[in-house]
Amino acid sequence: MKKAIVVGSGAGGATAAKELQGKFDVTVLEAGKAFHPFAPNLSVMEKLKKTGCFFDEKHIQLLFPAMQIRKTEDKMILVNGIGLGGTTTISAGNGIRVDDDLRRLGINLDAEFEELYSEVPITTEHQRYWNKTTKQLFDICTQMDLNPRPTPKMGFYDRCKRCGRCVLGCPHEVKWDSRKFLEIAINNGINLITNCKVEKLIIKNGLVTGVQARQGWQTRFYPADLVILAAGGFETPVILQNSGIGCESSLFVDPVLCVSAEWHGCLQNKEIPMPFVVQKEHFILSPYFDFLSFYFNKGWKHSSSNILSLMIKLADLNTGSISNKKIIKPITDKDKERLNEGVEICTEILTRMGIEKNDIFLGTINAGHPGGMLPLTVQEADTLHHRRLPPNLYIADATLFPASLGNPPILTIMAMAKKVSKLCT
Ligand SMILES: Cc1cc2nc3c(=O)[nH]c(=O)nc-3n(C[C@H](O)[C@H](O)[C@H](O)COP(=O)(O)OP(=O)(O)OC[C@H]3O[C@@H](n4cnc5c(N)ncnc54)[C@H](O)[C@@H]3O)c2cc1C
Ligand code: SF4
Repeated sequence: MKKAIVVGSGAGGATAAKELQGKFDVTVLEAGKAFHPFAPNLSVMEKLKKTGCFFDEKHIQLLFPAMQIRKTEDKMILVNGIGLGGTTTISAGNGIRVDDDLRRLGINLDAEFEELYSEVPITTEHQRYWNKTTKQLFDICTQMDLNPRPTPKMGFYDRCKRCGRCVLGCPHEVKWDSRKFLEIAINNGINLITNCKVEKLIIKNGLVTGVQARQGWQTRFYPADLVILAAGGFETPVILQNSGIGCESSLFVDPVLCVSAEWHGCLQNKEIPMPFVVQKEHFILSPYFDFLSFYFNKGWKHSSSNILSLMIKLADLNTGSISNKKIIKPITDKDKERLNEGVEICTEILTRMGIEKNDIFLGTINAGHPGGMLPLTVQEADTLHHRRLPPNLYIADATLFPASLGNPPILTIMAMAKKVSKLCT
């Protein structure tokens, strides 16, 4: 049987591996190791925070190696997952279909979404368990005609312990992540190699013959008839560029800014993150306890149980790039204008809760939805194969998206990975 290599085991990689096994003899090469949720007790962490020993977001990696943190020149924090399950293990569990831009290009993912809806448990049942503050926020958003909607969540939320640790890795196996697809793929016979970082593709006579990867101190060549890159929106472009395939300077990341205030006993730190969503043209709004800002932003002084916070997740302009592994991602004036629009709406929501305007403070801008550096065009809508790639090389992550979704991308990446897996065989 022909050999396929899938690079990465996150949303795109795990999906492609599951779909391709059987048609190919699939090997998944994953840079990280097995995923373990963040273990430390958060009350102890909060006491440690008061000693001032947390001063750089990059320190998280020491306690939580599955979370990779980088910073841009604008001091935006970029977050992604490294390890089995990729970033899906540290996601908020949102499963939303957002394929309008792809559809406009002529890419129809209806069949793939249907398949996903039968494979991944997606529910809004969590609404039954919302705490008082979440219900109040939802009511205020309704009164403001913001049309809030309970967020579809991937997982088994009837078992949810309401610990609020979703983005630190669910300790109770409630939240769905792509390791579930990986398990199926492993049972079907894929070969999984962890701690194996793909550096570049080996291309001969216009075809990919395999990949060069680093495992510890060793560099190895893995031969393949087909390669699927799904190392995520930050890493897939690096592999392409290392292999002599240029990308566009069109990186998007979906910056997140939290608008927050003290609100006694709101217990948002124990609520599921993003229980409901308000969709606006260029951003979404959602209640969200921001751990990064809480631990590392000096302005976040209040106790974790007393901070009420609303997230603005922006569909940023695709104006960034990755070059020699350096990520250049300015927050443009247009992005700032749109973020300010979000801050105004959040301020209105919080003041309707009874909070004084002057007591409102902002979080640190962070982002974790990278993509866009080799965007598909109308010409590639039928093949999902970018014209710059050798015929036996495909991409199955958000690198292909023509624009930021400004929304949780996992489900759409998985739908795309399914379609890529059908078209590359
Ligand atoms: C805190 C946070 C919360 C989020 N919450 C949500 C949410 O609720 N819903 C949602 O839809 N989206 C969410 N996202 C975004 C979402 O998780 C990612 O966009 C999505 O997982 C990307 O899928 P992917 O397959 O492209 O990459 P990833 O899931 O990041 O997987 C890439 C994999 O490739 C591996 N890899 C990287 N480089 C190499 C290499 N050179 N060689 C081999 N392997 C490599 C990585 O270790 C990783 O396992 C969140 C993101 C963050 C940061
Ligand atoms: S709140 Fe629920 S889904 Fe989130 S980590 Fe806790 S148990 Fe898991």
